[in-house]
Amino acid sequence: MHVLQEDGYTQENCYSLHGFPSKTANVSQADTTKSKFTEDEYQEYLRLKCSSLTQSSQAPNTSTTCISQSIESHNSWVIDSGASDHISGNTSLFSTISFQDKPHFITLANGSKTSSKGVGRVILSPSLTLKSVHFVSNCPFNLISLSQLTKLFNCSVTFDHKSFVIQERGSGRQIGKGYEAGGLYHFGSRPRVSCVAAPSPKVLHDRLGHPHLSKLKKMCPELSGLQTLECESCQLGKHVRSTFPKKSLSQCNSSFSIIHSDIWGPSRISSFGFRYFVTFIDEFSRCTWVYLMKDRSELLSIFTSFLHEIKNQLGRVIKILRSDNAKEYFSSALSAVLISHGILHQSTCPHTPQQNGIAEKKNRHLVEIARTLLLGAHIPVHQWGDALLTACFLINRMPSSSQS
Ligand SMILES: [Zn+2]
Repeated sequence: MHVLQEDGYTQENCYSLHGFPSKTANVSQADTTKSKFTEDEYQEYLRLKCSSLTQSSQAPNTSTTCISQSIESHNSWVIDSGASDHISGNTSLFSTISFQDKPHFITLANGSKTSSKGVGRVILSPSLTLKSVHFVSNCPFNLISLSQLTKLFNCSVTFDHKSFVIQERGSGRQIGKGYEAGGLYHFGSRPRVSCVAAPSPKVLHDRLGHPHLSKLKKMCPELSGLQTLECESCQLGKHVRSTFPKKSLSQCNSSFSIIHSDIWGPSRISSFGFRYFVTFIDEFSRCTWVYLMKDRSELLSIFTSFLHEIKNQLGRVIKILRSDNAKEYFSSALSAVLISHGILHQSTCPHTPQQNGIAEKKNRHLVEIARTLLLGAHIPVHQWGDALLTACFLINRMPSSSQS
């Protein structure tokens, strides 16, 4: 028992009055601001001492506890090897509690004292219920006494630098576990962190494939106040858009009824043998499929597999294929496939790529984003194939400006 030195009470006479403590303190640095023995509690203590002298009856029980540091959470339970009792300042954590007239005094590790106003039961988990937890009002922490725990549950507690487990002795059955945080061992599972860190707007812009600021704001509403976003890669990688109609004239109302397609290439620099790519864009959802090609003649096999994939995986059929006049779209083999599946082939007037606006725009967008990704990450140009697939992946997951 730690001793109050004021008013003539010394360690010796205090012990003689109340007996020596049965429990010991584990002293370490403590939070003195939140757990000070207040003037009222001190007066109450003196009053009780007088009454105990006159009545010569039971002295208040005294026990000790160690508080390593202040603990923010009112719900988290911390394992404490210096605590002689389980204590909590949050009545909502108790399943049952009985308030007592005679306070049970608890001496904190820094020498300050506080009194328990009640004792109750706390269910930590289905396999672990603490039966005598002391309620200390205004106590900013919940402590599990390690000694009480191991004694009452006949268990062992194994710690490592990140976690601990509580196991029944003999059977080895795990009855509890916890995690380390801020130098303390908390009972239970580590709380899920919803946002690990807030990356800067520029980092978000880079990671999401350099979208336009307005699109970035749609995805990250917290950036709504952002006026401008400087990005050198965007300035280098993106050209000024030119005259394509803003919206295709026809508006389809179901997915896969109209598929737009366009072949891009050849690229001056091959990407692991690939010099071309072909896109298939669903007009309704603007969802895009990109396939890398070594030769334009691969269009037939790629389109056939795309057709089967849509049918098999999504249960949808393609009704119309729109393309420009590239000769690969008019090969007899592809025409036969289209006819056999009842797909209408619509092509644009010669020398008017604008009519194939959706596919042309999408290809331009894909190439711009791929180039910007390469520039932003200082990746050699011959990796453009992977950058293109990444660009498609990102664009497919972003709000489309053509969709309301
Ligand atoms: Zn950018």
